[in-house]
Amino acid sequence: MKYKRYAALGNSFCALAITVILFMVIVVEALGDGLLVRADEVVEEKPERFIVESTRQWEKETFAVSGSPASLAWLLKPGIKNIFLEDWRLLLVNKDNLLPEDYKIETKRLSNGLMVDARIYEPLMEFLKAGNKEGCNLLVCSAYRPYERQVELYEADLAKYQRMGYSYEKACAITEETLAVPGASEHQAGLSVDIVTLRHQVLNDAFADTKAGKWLAEHAHEYGFILRYPKDKEEITGINYEPWHFRYVGKEAAKQIHDLGCCLEEYVMLQRQLAILNLSAKTKNY
Ligand SMILES: [Zn+2]
Repeated sequence: MKYKRYAALGNSFCALAITVILFMVIVVEALGDGLLVRADEVVEEKPERFIVESTRQWEKETFAVSGSPASLAWLLKPGIKNIFLEDWRLLLVNKDNLLPEDYKIETKRLSNGLMVDARIYEPLMEFLKAGNKEGCNLLVCSAYRPYERQVELYEADLAKYQRMGYSYEKACAITEETLAVPGASEHQAGLSVDIVTLRHQVLNDAFADTKAGKWLAEHAHEYGFILRYPKDKEEITGINYEPWHFRYVGKEAAKQIHDLGCCLEEYVMLQRQLAILNLSAKTKNY
């Protein structure tokens, strides 16, 4: 009698264990598969559910880890990129987002002969004027760089290192330590400028400690510019800290980027998430 009761108890324990295991498998699957969003499914298969879950996952990953490249990579998948039009001011140019060879802009010439995208001329003038009023003596030393020019610079460096005896691969690697491959330089978009001063014209970290370096970093956002390659975001931008490189993104975005303490890559991803949510809210009304 006693033995039978134990057997029955054993059976129901088994059943319970199987149920628990099955439940765990379902939960793990949901967490692993559902939350780790496949970006291409966001718009195609299960929009509402996946959008909400992907946002939570993104928030969790981005704000907790502050955006490691691995956790951000999925947001750059084509499915997400194509669902809304990019704002030209938020154009993302980097190794993973190359500008096409035929990228053309309307340029406007600065007084020193360098050119920028005509659309950023006025805000740039306002920015420089404000800095000079504070006694910074600002000097734009690099601005728009056409595709062909980037190719020239790249090939010249490559040839130099090959002449020094490096293999083609090694020469490419050394070149790319200081120069972007054609298409990957933000200067090709005409939306960036390198700003130094008459007294400090070397592009090095020490520029950050100069009066001008400090003023630029502190006030750029008020004029629609951001310090594009911050020190603590090197892993995400893929570019070493550049206290002299400023990028126009518009006043609203610049203020948000400044307040959030994020870099352009992170901000663009945030915008993509918001665009997805807006799109979803429009169609779903929640
Ligand atoms: Zn630059």
